[in-house]
This record gives sequence, C-alpha cells and structure tokens, in this order.
Amino acid sequence: TSLPNSWDARAKAHSFFGFTDLPSIAERGTVVLTHGEGPYVVDTDGTRYLDANSGLWNMIAGFDHPDLTAAAQAQYAAFPGYHAFFGRMSDQAVMLSEKLVEVSPFEDGKVFYTNSGSEANDTMVKMLWFLHGAEGRPQARKIITRGNAYHGVTAVSASMTAKPYNAVFGLPLPGFLHLTCPHYWREGRDGESEAEFLARLVDELEQMIATEGADTIAGFFAEPVQGAGGVIPPCDGYFDAMLPVLRRHGIPIIADEVITGFGRTGALWGCESYGFVPDAIISSKALTAGFFPMGAVILGPELSDRLQRAVDVIEEFPHGFTASGHPVGCAIALKSIDLVMNGGLLNNVNHLIPTFEAGLAKLAQHEHIGEWRGRGLMGALEAVRDKATKTPFEGHLSVSERIANTCTDHGLICRPLGQSIVLCPPFIMTDAQMEEMFDKLSRALNKVFAEVG
Ligand code: PLP
Repeated sequence: TSLPNSWDARAKAHSFFGFTDLPSIAERGTVVLTHGEGPYVVDTDGTRYLDANSGLWNMIAGFDHPDLTAAAQAQYAAFPGYHAFFGRMSDQAVMLSEKLVEVSPFEDGKVFYTNSGSEANDTMVKMLWFLHGAEGRPQARKIITRGNAYHGVTAVSASMTAKPYNAVFGLPLPGFLHLTCPHYWREGRDGESEAEFLARLVDELEQMIATEGADTIAGFFAEPVQGAGGVIPPCDGYFDAMLPVLRRHGIPIIADEVITGFGRTGALWGCESYGFVPDAIISSKALTAGFFPMGAVILGPELSDRLQRAVDVIEEFPHGFTASGHPVGCAIALKSIDLVMNGGLLNNVNHLIPTFEAGLAKLAQHEHIGEWRGRGLMGALEAVRDKATKTPFEGHLSVSERIANTCTDHGLICRPLGQSIVLCPPFIMTDAQMEEMFDKLSRALNKVFAEVG
C-alpha cells in the first residue's frame, strides 16, 4: 500500500515496464533507485541493496567504477557521438574491433556493432540469410535454438527465445526450431542416465536436420550456459557431442555470449570454458560493463571471409544502427576489457568461484531446494516442494518470487526465474560481500519455506 505521491505510485503512473510480474510488484512495490556504490544500489529512501544480479547480468564492475566513468567522460569531451555508415567511423570503433578480435578465440575476424544483445542476434541472423542467399542457398533460412533459450526480444531474437510467454505475440515466426533444453536434472527421463540423455539430444538434432533438410538451415545458436532460462549449464559432454553433427552438415555455430562473455564463467568466454570454438560470438552486457548500451557480433575468420565475399558481390550489406560503433560505448568497452583482463576482475572471479559454489551447495541442503547449478559466477537454486519427486510448489505467486521479495526486504537483490533463485554477482565483490549475500539469502529461504511449509 503506497502513498499516492510515493515513488512507487509515480513509477506506476506513467512508466510501462516489461518483464514485471504484477502480483509480485503489488506485494512489494517498485524500488526506485538513485545511484550505486560498488556492488550496492541505493533507493530513494537511502536504503542500500546488495545487487546479486549485477543489474541484469551486466554491471560486472559494480555501479560506480571510476575508471569507466572517466573513460566515458574523456570520450564525451573528445567526440561524443558518431555512426559507422558510408565509410566513416570513429577511431574508438576501429580500436575496439581490433581488441575484440585479439581477445576472441578466433585467429582473425570482424566485428559489427549494435545497441543490444537482441539486435546482435537479429544482425547475426540477417548476416546468415544474406550470405546463404549470396552463395546460392536462399532456402537456408531456418534457425535452430534450444528450449529455455533466451536470445532477446526483437521479433527475430524472440523467435529464437524458446519461451512459452512469446505465444502472446504470435511468436515464434515460422522457421525457428527449438531443440530440447540440455538440462539433465529437469529434462532427463526416469531411469535415463546423463549419457543416455545426451545421446537422445544428439539423435533429436540428427532427426531435425534430416526432417527439415540440412540445406534449409541457416545456423545454430546456443548460450554456453543458459542464463534467463534459469542458469542452466549443459549436460556433460553436450557441446562435444552436438557440434560435430552441425559441422558435418555445414551448419554455422553461433555462441550467444551476451551473459557468459568477458569472464562470467571463469574463462574470458563461455565457449572457452566448454572447450569449443564457434563460428561467431554474440556479445553485449559485460562488453561495456553495463555502462553503455552496446552489442557486437564477432565473426570468426570463415564467416568473415564468406560475408566479405557476399558483400563484394552485392556491393553493400544494407544493415546498421544509428549508434553502431558509438565512440563513447567503444571507449568504455576498451576500458572494461582492460579491467577484466589486466585490472584484476577476471582474477577476482576465479578467486570467488570456490566460495560461490560452496555457498550454493550449502543452501542446496535445504529440504526445499531440489538442485543447485551454475558455472563460474552464475548460479541458481531451484525450489521444490518435494525433493525426491522434484515436484514444484504451486500457487499464484511463485515461491521464488516470495524469496526474492523477502531478500529485497533484507537489502539483497536476487532474481526469481521460474522456480529458481538466480545469482549473478558483480566481479568486484569482496569475500565479505559474498558472505553477506549468502547470509541474507539463507535467512529469506528459511523464512519463506517456513511459511509455505
Ligand atoms: N542473449 C542473451 C543470452 C541474453 O541473456 C540477453 C539478455 O538478457 C540477450 C541476448 C538480449 O540482450 P538485450 O536485452 O541487450 O537485448
């Protein structure tokens, strides 16, 4: 119950929010924030919250990193905005592309800039359609993704996002195919071993390619660890078994590293953590440490060459955004990559991972936590009513939402995703802040589970 002139009421009066669960917000109200301090955000009442989700997986350096602010200020003073059309682009864009190819798993490559992860996925799909068309395969338009995938919200990337909620938009568009989510704990059948589960997924892929026709498929997209699906690392051996099938059929493999890129999994790239090199990488979020809206498609050498040849024939790739390669975004990204690689952020991720995993494993002993899972500094705890049968809790407001709301009351922000509570802490966290995070989450779990019995 809020006062008519409260920030909560003002926020609801004239702002339209996406991905906002109205019953949950009705219970707790809107948190309106004014600034941040390290990994904390501060609301209009001065209450501090430890943000265990790094904003939306992106603010890896916290909310007030002076080096990133300084990089932005210097670039605003030098050249505050430019595009990358018509043979003109900023020096920052040139330098960032060089840096991205240097730090990518590719020997060589090319970069295309967007404003978001969704647009980067859209751009990649258009690149695939463009180059298959130019190479004489205009029918190669289908896109394969996996159940529970999240690739964004534009019409194409939402079609790649295999979530039932997109049905309200009449999506997916035709030609967007979804494989089984590689989550053994949830998707494995009774009595099926993890190896048998994997064999079933490989068979499903083979069948899909045979049914659809390999020459109708434009590409395969996968998050190395599914993020918004509820932090789902793939079952053992997944990429090692799936990728050779795709390669055999000449289907390009795209790693959507919007969350996993730049150190989240403990390596610079998620694909590195899982030992594969894709044909292209989709990047955003940590690319600028969340200090600027920006996405990038990083093409490996083969797709770069094929795309370049296609462009040489057609004489133009008719695609781009006004702010593609924005110089301020590029300057921030250059600084952020430097902080990750040379400024101690990646080292701190690897320092924190054992404590993070131990904290999750400890909370998973709770009788109502069915599974903990994660990779690097992204993790989830899945709430179940019954651990043995993995039966979820019922009810209008999910238990995970109640836990997240209780955490907020305790000064901790974490995210309910389905039946799971998700943690994705900033790379700058200290050991003490990690302890604070688990302490507050533990208290919230105990309180809510005691209430729901
Ligand atoms: N791809 C992945 C893996 C994501 O997690 C997200 C956003 O969470 C996106 C794409 C979409 O990015 P954006 O919200 O910047 O459009």
